[in-house]
Amino acid sequence: MANLKHSYSENVPGQFFVDNTCIDCDLCRQIAPDVFRDEGDHSVVYRQPESPKQTQRAGMALVACPTGSIGTTSKTNLRPAMDAFPERIEDNVYFCGYASPDTYGAASYLIQRPEGNVLIDSPRFASNLVKRLEELGGVAIMFMTHRDDIAEHQKLRNHFGCQRVIHRADSMSVPAEHILDGDDAVALDDELLVVPVPGHTRGHAVLLYRKKFLFTGDHLAWSDDRDGLVAFRSVAWYSWREQTQSMKRLLGLDFQWVLPGHGRRGHLPANLMRQKLVNCIEWMQKVS
Ligand code: SF4
Repeated sequence: MANLKHSYSENVPGQFFVDNTCIDCDLCRQIAPDVFRDEGDHSVVYRQPESPKQTQRAGMALVACPTGSIGTTSKTNLRPAMDAFPERIEDNVYFCGYASPDTYGAASYLIQRPEGNVLIDSPRFASNLVKRLEELGGVAIMFMTHRDDIAEHQKLRNHFGCQRVIHRADSMSVPAEHILDGDDAVALDDELLVVPVPGHTRGHAVLLYRKKFLFTGDHLAWSDDRDGLVAFRSVAWYSWREQTQSMKRLLGLDFQWVLPGHGRRGHLPANLMRQKLVNCIEWMQKVS
């Protein structure tokens, strides 16, 4: 619960505020860019919502915030914002919101499919989200891109009975039902392809769905500043060199969406996305 007494002085006065527990995860700025902005190492409210739509987006940012750092100065009905997650991105792919502090606010996603839904990385185990996931058909598979973003996997497994999938090199704290080995791509079925991409961690893997949506964890993201794809050198915990090498494995894939744990989403036609990936690899090779 955000505390007005500890709110940042840079917040403009009004309904919404950010307090000093913000961990600068960027989610609120992605969800409600008309209201929240970056202020160095944290977010603030730079403009109060001026329309019902902006109020709804600010409420959704409050709900998604992993640390409860966003508050309101007066009683606000957050039910519509709570019910807005999972939020559809395109086709049958959704953003879960409800980020967990255990993942440093990583985004998690849901694929809704007749043959069983797939959860990518772990949201907060919030009762309202769990209820919405039930309404959308539950969770059959929980794919974990890497060990940092597993958060409340055990609660989700206990509730939904989902099969957890993770690479062995990142499986130390996860008693997963399906553990992947080696560096070769593995098809989970006709629509889901797992590609191991060591670098951020040894056991990091990405998931390609229908040759369109690439769930990239902390391997790859979009950068508005660079107008292109980017990897994060400062958090290549295992090996930047390996991450650069494993990035080349993605050149053989078609995808239009990059859906990361941390960082911004990217969406381009597949041919343009591939060119952005080439540019990203060239940049990575120059960075030591
Ligand atoms: S979502 Fe919360 S923790 Fe993340 S940047 Fe916004 S206020 Fe900070």
